[in-house]
Amino acid sequence: MAASLDDLQEPSWQDYANCLGVDPDLFFPERGASTREAKEVCRGCIVREDCLEYALRNGEKFGIWGGMSERERRRIRRQRALARAAAREVPARTA
Ligand code: SF4
Repeated sequence: MAASLDDLQEPSWQDYANCLGVDPDLFFPERGASTREAKEVCRGCIVREDCLEYALRNGEKFGIWGGMSERERRRIRRQRALARAAAREVPARTA
């Protein structure tokens, strides 16, 4: 049987996601609902870092990504922005 284009593509991090086959609603809980179950799935996920970075890079505003809620991701974005700003303020040293 001839290989299709899909067969020839490199697997991506999504192919290794622990949440494959898990109800997506679990990762997009209603406001105020528990995120515990979704985070449990993420805890054992080998592509958690990739997932989190993807969400941060793409500004994902909703759902659990990389084991983190929207609020937790906002905090990371804020911390990184502060770190970048601080790095710009440090005067460059010359040897
Ligand atoms: S970290 Fe969580 S949401 Fe992301 S791929 Fe893994 S199981 Fe899915």
